[in-house]
Amino acid sequence: MTVNPKDYLEMGQKFHGHKCPAMPSGLRVGAAAMNKLGVERAKDGQLLAILELGEDHCATCFADGVQVITGCTFGKGNIKKLHYGKWGVTLVDKKTGRAVRVTPTAEAMLGNKKSEFFTKYRMLGIPASEVPDAVVDPLIVKVMDAPAEMILKISEVFQYELHSKKDSFAGFVCDICGEMVVEGYGRPLGDKHVCQDCYNKA
Ligand SMILES: [Zn+2]
Ligand SMILES: [Zn+2]
Repeated sequence: MTVNPKDYLEMGQKFHGHKCPAMPSGLRVGAAAMNKLGVERAKDGQLLAILELGEDHCATCFADGVQVITGCTFGKGNIKKLHYGKWGVTLVDKKTGRAVRVTPTAEAMLGNKKSEFFTKYRMLGIPASEVPDAVVDPLIVKVMDAPAEMILKISEVFQYELHSKKDSFAGFVCDICGEMVVEGYGRPLGDKHVCQDCYNKA
């Protein structure tokens, strides 16, 4: 059973908020990684996605595509950023430690940058949500339809060393603000057990 990135395009656009080529690129990268490993979308924390991007431009669009298709999400905590400013994604099957790294090729990315979407809109500071469909739609089709070998670099499967941590449901109530804190994140303050925020303010 293979994952088809087209099945996630609409959902991805709804989640992401606008139409752009970067979110679909994240869908393609995520699908290629899942299909190489032969894994399903993570219902819980089965997969771990390690992104090389930081917080900069395009990073968030691309990362949303990866989140939507792999099920590795900010909320579940099974997605991480390395802040290298690169587009590589390493997807790990946590049960076996099998992993693959996929990245869009530089050629494909440079090609997108020459499109009107970038030169006439995004580079002039126009938000993606204000770019006409007639401009962005063909670019999205191009990203979704291109053969994987044209736009992606897919590594061989390799073994990733996981540092497994058991899920903990333990917590405590901060002696100062009275809010719930996950066990292990507290600080001693005199004879009180407090959260980091209260510790910093004290
Ligand atoms: Zn976007
Ligand atoms: Zn507190």
